[in-house]
Amino acid sequence: MKKYVYFFGNGKADGRADMKALLGGKGANLAEMTNIRLPVPAGFTISTEVCTYYYENKRTYPRTLANDVAIALKKVEKSMGAKFGDPKNPLLVSVRSGARASMPGMMDTVLNLGLNDVVAEGLVKKTNNRRFVYDSYRRFVQMYGDVVLGLKPVHKDEIDPFEVIIEEKKKAKGIHLDTELDADDLKELVDQFKQAIKDQTGHDFPQNPMKQLWGAVGAVFGSWNNERAIAYRKLYDIPDWWGTAVNVQSMVFGNMGEDSGTGVAFTRDAATGENLFYGEYLMNAQGEDVVAGIRTPLPIAQLKQENAKIYAQLDRIRKALEKHYRDMMDIEFTIQQGKLYMLQCRVGKRTAFAAIKIAVDMVQQRLISDKEALNRIEPEALNQLLRPVFDLKEKEGAVKSGRLLAKGLNAGPGAATGRIVFNAPDAEEWKKRGELVILTRIETSPEDIKGMDAAEGILTARGGMTSHAALVARQMGKVCVAGCSALEMDYGKRTMTVKGKVLKEGDWISLDGTTGEVIEGKVPTKPSEVLQVLIGKTLHPKHAPVYQQYAKIMSWADKYRRLNIRTNADQPDQASNAVAFGAEGIGLCRTEHMFFGEGKIGPMREMILADTVEARTAALAKLLPLQRADFEGIFVAMNGRPVTIRTIDPPLHEFLPHEEPAQRELAQQMGISYEKVRQRVEGLHEFNPMLGFRGCRLGIIFPEITEMQSRAIFEAAANVQAQGIKVEPEVMIPLVGHVKELEHQEKIVRRVASEVMQEKNVKFKYLVGTMIEIPRGAITADEIARVAEFFSFGTNDLTQTTLGVSRDDSARFLIPYVEKEIYPKDPFEVLDQTGVGELMKIAIEKGRAARPGLKVGICGEHGGEPSSVEFCHRINQNYVSCSPFRVPIARLAAARAALADTKRGKSKQG
Ligand code: PEP
Ligand code: MG
Repeated sequence: MKKYVYFFGNGKADGRADMKALLGGKGANLAEMTNIRLPVPAGFTISTEVCTYYYENKRTYPRTLANDVAIALKKVEKSMGAKFGDPKNPLLVSVRSGARASMPGMMDTVLNLGLNDVVAEGLVKKTNNRRFVYDSYRRFVQMYGDVVLGLKPVHKDEIDPFEVIIEEKKKAKGIHLDTELDADDLKELVDQFKQAIKDQTGHDFPQNPMKQLWGAVGAVFGSWNNERAIAYRKLYDIPDWWGTAVNVQSMVFGNMGEDSGTGVAFTRDAATGENLFYGEYLMNAQGEDVVAGIRTPLPIAQLKQENAKIYAQLDRIRKALEKHYRDMMDIEFTIQQGKLYMLQCRVGKRTAFAAIKIAVDMVQQRLISDKEALNRIEPEALNQLLRPVFDLKEKEGAVKSGRLLAKGLNAGPGAATGRIVFNAPDAEEWKKRGELVILTRIETSPEDIKGMDAAEGILTARGGMTSHAALVARQMGKVCVAGCSALEMDYGKRTMTVKGKVLKEGDWISLDGTTGEVIEGKVPTKPSEVLQVLIGKTLHPKHAPVYQQYAKIMSWADKYRRLNIRTNADQPDQASNAVAFGAEGIGLCRTEHMFFGEGKIGPMREMILADTVEARTAALAKLLPLQRADFEGIFVAMNGRPVTIRTIDPPLHEFLPHEEPAQRELAQQMGISYEKVRQRVEGLHEFNPMLGFRGCRLGIIFPEITEMQSRAIFEAAANVQAQGIKVEPEVMIPLVGHVKELEHQEKIVRRVASEVMQEKNVKFKYLVGTMIEIPRGAITADEIARVAEFFSFGTNDLTQTTLGVSRDDSARFLIPYVEKEIYPKDPFEVLDQTGVGELMKIAIEKGRAARPGLKVGICGEHGGEPSSVEFCHRINQNYVSCSPFRVPIARLAAARAALADTKRGKSKQG
């Protein structure tokens, strides 16, 4: 019989940490903590297979489940010495979701389950703590009413209906804090809640504990498919079929008096990565109070003073967990009348800053190897290190002039500036209109996820460092200031008042997520520490700890990667930036981009408007020295590294003005009639310019263009070499589909190369190669490789031509295509490995069969996208080429790809 239910308790568990697929992250780690004898309240996990069954069988359960649950519940009762539903000695349980990957707050939870009117009175007798019992009961009815029976806010401006009742009660009594409500108040609240549920949903709150349990289990499985969970899965690529597990665990109480409490902590600082015990707790409170941000908790260091014994025990557990899991862990604990219990542990989410610091520190502590460190940092996460920070002077000026509004918790580092919006749907809408927004909330909840994603930064008035806003923002890499209690928000009026100042929806504010400061108005930003060291050169690495961590990771990445990383750059400054980021060459220099530079567009237009070869040659002669200077700049910046220069590629109309006033101006400048300019522009019009007169076709019809460009390249090479700088030009012919196209262009390039060498009496090495960006080019790669000394996949065009999807006109249907999962990701962003990738494989195989050792790279936008980089590694390319700021990402992705190879190799042998 299939096992669906896994017990844990008394130092022994059916499960283990590596059973996440079956037990979910929470269930697997509860089992593991139990096995390593940490104090875990007994419970059981209903496996993810039940979730799958539930959805495949019209929301029903496997036949054996009820019995398995009953048996497990008996074991829990035995372990805890209490009985479910027994008024004399009741066992209360929590029912929580737990998917394979953490989805914080996205699914539902019910606490204090097992309470009813009779059990509550029994528990009063047992605990002699009537207030505690009715506080627990009202929380239970509130959660059950919300999660299982569906009494929750309907409109975005609405407040939780249960909170409305609580607020009314507090107002009537003239009190401010929940803790000021006494046992009678709470008991009344229970009745009022039950009534509200009945009135508004038509359901009775169930008194039977078993009925409560199955109601909660069903709601948790049901919450796998709620809107926010689905949105979250989309955002983080979590497959729908994984399903969630359900954990039923004995309750322990942090709200049993001043010797009880609850907290959440990270074994290191999740924002900065500092090796400090980092967390928050609240005495006389339940876990939800800390996470939901309803009360602002105390820093964990304070627990040392408040209860040294518990703190020491917790600190021992912190160390034991790090040693056991060899990672930074995120834990939840409860203290019940002076006794510590562990309720959860999982690998802690962290910012990119923290991920890097923790990985580097753990290598130094010999907890993990450098290879493991690399595998722990998602390549895209490096983006966070390259994000802007405030211009310090500007910020100081803003603060001095009295624009500092308030200070909250520095929950998500970085600098953000934007316009205030007060709810998530508005954040999304405004963002769609192209606005920068700061999502400003009293506190956030999982419903806000899409709005948080749309915002530049998130500001909350309540909640701590581990509140929903803080956790989710850090995970998204968003700037976040949380718990900024000086802010008074009025959702209805769409205003926020701070120190008597009223800010309205649409006003600008700036957040410093590193210090927690909230500043009125816009504050300009400047590059990150890494950028200041590498690009601005305004900061010495010695004074840049974040940069140092980055550099370590990069050095490990370089040790293991096999792919070379080049960059796409057309300007010397771009080239130098890329070199600073570790580029080993230029993989694509789009020469046409150079024509838009100072003084070049004029002769370029002359060349295009020329009627005769002579006129064209005369215009090209003007362009030659300008292009040569461009190439010299690039060669110098690259200082001996290979530089792939592509001959002109785009359709010529792109260089001419399309509006009448600009055409008239051009006519005047060139001393020709407006009519002639207009006619020429019209003459160059194409129905489908992307498949028209472009690429090598231009150089074949106008060979003098290729001739001029080759001359500019080789003369520049000769001149730079004469300065003692090595040069390695690689001339690349675009859009080749037939070997004869390449032959035609290659002849010109080689002839000009020998002419220049002869004229200047020098010798330099150079290559002639081609882009593979048309299916015919890929399929006839063997023929092409007889001429080409290298291939570079132009996957932008290769995607366009393979899919038959225009790269310029596709957004309208590609976005819905991705939503409908026809393509898993936009194929212009993430390489379509099965389609386009297959052509690349064919091209490499045929190309190398004809020319062993053929150098192969990629220079389409996919060259800096981690999964595509890994693919390029797997198909044995020599290099990838990407935009300068993506070079670090590509380096790391390449290293991870190489490490994955070793793993695969090992598993093959083993
Ligand atoms: C490509 O097609 O992938 C490429 C790099 O060239 P471009 O984007 O300039 O067409
Ligand atoms: Mg192209």
